[in-house]
Amino acid sequence: MISPIINDTLIERLRTLINTSQRIAITCHKSPDGDALGSSLALCHVLRRLGKEAVVVTPDMAPKALDFIPGLRDIVVFTKHELRARHVLNEAQLIFCLDFNSLHRIDRLGALIEPLKTKRVLIDHHLDPEDIFDLAISHPEASSTCELVFRVFMQMGLLRFMDRHAASCLYVGLLTDTGGFAYSCDNPEFYEILASILRRRINRIELYNKAMNTFSADSLRLQGYAINEKMQLFPQQGASLIVLSKEELERFNYNRGDTETLVNKPLAIPEIYWSVFMREDADKIKISCRSQGDFSVSDICSRYFNGGGHENAAGGDFEGTLDEAVDLFYQVLADLFPDTEVTREQPEKEEQQPTS
Ligand code: 5GP
Ligand code: MN
Repeated sequence: MISPIINDTLIERLRTLINTSQRIAITCHKSPDGDALGSSLALCHVLRRLGKEAVVVTPDMAPKALDFIPGLRDIVVFTKHELRARHVLNEAQLIFCLDFNSLHRIDRLGALIEPLKTKRVLIDHHLDPEDIFDLAISHPEASSTCELVFRVFMQMGLLRFMDRHAASCLYVGLLTDTGGFAYSCDNPEFYEILASILRRRINRIELYNKAMNTFSADSLRLQGYAINEKMQLFPQQGASLIVLSKEELERFNYNRGDTETLVNKPLAIPEIYWSVFMREDADKIKISCRSQGDFSVSDICSRYFNGGGHENAAGGDFEGTLDEAVDLFYQVLADLFPDTEVTREQPEKEEQQPTS
């Protein structure tokens, strides 16, 4: 039995909003991931089946690796189709905000949406949403926004419109936001939701392989290099740090998404329970953090790196140089572990054996 965790009054208000709107825009956070895209596209499919003119508008491009998600090629990308994105949002009678909790997570789309009088509906699982939504379905205990979109369908009696395409989209978010059903999926109802999705005869294995286990040769080589030559371990603090400069990324023909799961890898080492990855982008340093157990990386990201997220998966941005970002990491170590000594354990470079 999947319990109706979303407040009935919210569901009824949402029903009225949908019934009275024909043009509906759906947006999600910048650098959209499987959950942001999966939830937005699943909702879009179902709204279209209800006869609505629904359009997904993302702040920036989706990683190429996710272009197998049904409907992905129809999305309007603000940084690519700015006029069309403005038009869709200006004309919308209802705007859904999926998988983010604050307008700064949608970059320049935020400034576009903020002055609009259009009603905004939040469906999200991040902590502490901003108070800027007319209707907020906010459940930080949920595995993913895809789980919440499923629950919205269920509680609104719309599951019969959830076809194979919509179910495939939801599966991608349930899968990727739990690291392949590894974390944030302790609630037995999660598996009842999965069962309902599997009944739509999705191609589970193909989706799994595409979402979790597809990398280009360059990406695999970059990850190998990062682990072999760049992973620094701090055993006394249970930490790992990987830093990749723009020059290193270019050497491996970096494409968006190529380092997607790299930050998880050091957690395979038994004594490492939190992991930080810093990537030098064009205009900022992107920070990604993961942890195990009750060590909260979302606190670290919000306190030091202008970001946030979930207890075990969080991120942020750093304005400054890579060296300054690394200095700040050392500051985190000093602040959080004042009684320990920072000793770095770096991979030893093997001497090249002359080949005969
Ligand atoms: P990732 O490391 O995969 O980029 O992000 C993991 C999680 O951290 C995301 O699901 C999101 O909740 C959060 N996150 C990542 N980057 C940011 C950021 O710049 N700001 C905030 N507030 N959260 C972020
Ligand atoms: Mn999510």
